[in-house]
Amino acid sequence: MRKKIIAGNWKMNKTLEEGMGLVSEVSNMLKDEYTGSAEVVIIPPFTHINSISKLIAENPRLKSGAQNCSNHKSGAYTGEVSADMLKSCGATYVIIGHSERRQYFNEHNDWLAKKVDAVLLAGLNPIYCCGETLEEREINTHFNVLHTQIREGLFHLSASDMKKVVIAYEPVWAIGTGKTASTEQAQEIHAFIRSLIAEKYDADIAQSITIQYGGSVKADNAAELFRSPDIDGALVGGAALQSRSFVDIVKAMA
Ligand code: PEP
Repeated sequence: MRKKIIAGNWKMNKTLEEGMGLVSEVSNMLKDEYTGSAEVVIIPPFTHINSISKLIAENPRLKSGAQNCSNHKSGAYTGEVSADMLKSCGATYVIIGHSERRQYFNEHNDWLAKKVDAVLLAGLNPIYCCGETLEEREINTHFNVLHTQIREGLFHLSASDMKKVVIAYEPVWAIGTGKTASTEQAQEIHAFIRSLIAEKYDADIAQSITIQYGGSVKADNAAELFRSPDIDGALVGGAALQSRSFVDIVKAMA
C-alpha cells in the first residue's frame, strides 16, 4: 500500500518560539485524536528544523523537512544550505521545485534535477513539486507542462532512486488563492503523472509512489480529495499554520 503523507509547508512564517508551540500542539492533538495511517511532515524554515526534529523525535508519526536545499554538497556558496546539513538537523524530506522557488528564484527543471540528486545523495527524500499556471491550463498546455516538469526534473533517476521520491501536484492557480482544483481535475492529473511513471519505469513503481495534492487544501475539502484513488495526501500551506486546521486535514485521511 502507498504511504499517505500530509506535509505542512510553513513558508517564511513563524518565529522559533511560535513554531515550537505549534508543533507541540499538533503533536498532542494527533496523539489524542488521530489513529489513521498518514505520516505527518512539518516543514518549517531552515532555522527551526533542528529544534523541531528534536521535539518530534518521540512521536513516530511526525517527521520534519526543509523547503529547499543547495544542489552542491559543500563549499563556497554563501547563504546556501546543503542536504547533508539538513540531514544532520534531523530532516527526512526536502521540498524541491515549489512554484514560489520556480517563480521568484528562477529555478528551472535542469537546476531542480541537480537538487533532487543532492537530496537523494544525502539519504533524504525529495518532495518534487510540479504544476501548471492558470494561463497554461486555459490554453490547454497543462499536460505538456507537467510532462516536461516531471521528465526534466526526475526521469534521469534510476528506478531505485525514483521509488524514494514523493511528487506534489500543485496547480499554481490554486496555491494561496482559496481556489482548489476540483477532485476530478486533481484526480485526472495524478492519474496522468502515474501513467508517465509507468511508461518510463514500470507499473509497480508507478503504483508505489506517493503523489500529494497541494493548493488551498482545507479541512472542508480534504476528505473529498483524499477519497480519490490516486491522491495520497496533501502539501498544505496556509492551513498548516494553525494546529486545529492542520490536524483536521490530517484527520480527513483514514
Ligand atoms: C503550498 O505552499 O504548497 C500550498 C499549497 O499553499 P496553500 O495551501 O496555502 O495553497
